[in-house]
Amino acid sequence: MFDKPAFAGHESVHHFFDAKTGLRAIVAIHSTARGPAAGGCRMWNYATSEDALVDALRLSEGMSNKNAIADLPLGGGKSVIWGNAKTDKTPDLFRAFGRAIETLNGKYWTAEDVGVSVHDMALVAEETKYVAGLPSGKAASGDPSPITAKGVFLGIKATALRAFGTDDLNGKHIAVQGVGHVGGYVCSYLAKAGAKLTITDVNAEALATVASSTGAKVVAPDEIYDVDADIFSPNALGAIINPTTLPRLKVKVIAGAANNQLATAGMGEKVLEKGILYAPDYVINGGGIINVAAEISGTYDPAWVEAKVQRLIQTLGEVLDQAQSEKRATNRIADEIARQRIAAARA
Ligand code: NAD
Repeated sequence: MFDKPAFAGHESVHHFFDAKTGLRAIVAIHSTARGPAAGGCRMWNYATSEDALVDALRLSEGMSNKNAIADLPLGGGKSVIWGNAKTDKTPDLFRAFGRAIETLNGKYWTAEDVGVSVHDMALVAEETKYVAGLPSGKAASGDPSPITAKGVFLGIKATALRAFGTDDLNGKHIAVQGVGHVGGYVCSYLAKAGAKLTITDVNAEALATVASSTGAKVVAPDEIYDVDADIFSPNALGAIINPTTLPRLKVKVIAGAANNQLATAGMGEKVLEKGILYAPDYVINGGGIINVAAEISGTYDPAWVEAKVQRLIQTLGEVLDQAQSEKRATNRIADEIARQRIAAARA
């Protein structure tokens, strides 16, 4: 583990196995300098246990940065369950996962991520209190997607302001990749703001619903990169900004909710060279973790969540302004700010 490029001085990494339920899980705690580590649980059918470890290491470091840039009193952690989310889920598996989390005594808080639902988290909550994103309960915050989408919409406006000199999206052409939980809400905000939308998704049903409610034009998944639009909003997959797709983009702004949009950090410089302003993913999509943080605090206060999201988007503006004045890639500026905050807390 210590030799892997994904190892970034993580404080601890915990492996859990439960013979009765077949649970194989890894919890990676990158940092607790700013508070208990928090980050979702991903269930994925990794090819090898090594792939699961690398994913947990990488994702937990990302959570440290995301929580720091949103100025939350939380460190970074992430858990992965090695298994097929469609065929391997049982209530007992998630209860066993809950008992595993409980052994960490609050050093790590879990929530939903890819492959894990609000319902699964309710099972985890039967065994531990260190879980958020619950459907019901005293401070339950439920599905974070609407809050994430609101932050993304405000972030698109903040990025448009720097790229076009106005944050008015009326008449702006926006190409949206992915109209799922977050992307669907983002599209309704954009349509209400008068934007012209071109959308894509691999889910035909979701696509048809959003197209009919927003009047968006639909294109095939691979065509989204070629749309002659002003803004590209990725809300589906990671690594979609890569050497193959970037030359095809005609937009001036990339701003969306998807995690890990840049295939490598070096793509940040390529995006800059092409004259595109990129809203760093973990800054613009922090609304969801702000929602989770409200639940972890023990009292869900919508006014606190709203104020935090507004401040997050202000931070996004500061990142973009600094990047533009220093002619540097926006992702490098965000990383620097996040790492400085973590280092200061550790000191
Ligand atoms: P989701 O699964 O509800 O939506 C993703 C959508 O992308 C689905 O409709 C899916 O069919 C579509 N998709 C998959 N492959 C595609 C492809 N090749 N081309 C086009 N569309 C494709 O997930 P979500 O919760 O909306 O999250 C979207 C992204 O935002 C993810 O990267 C997620 O990690 C990130 N994110 C989500 C939240 C949140 O609050 N849900 C918070 C932060 C970041």
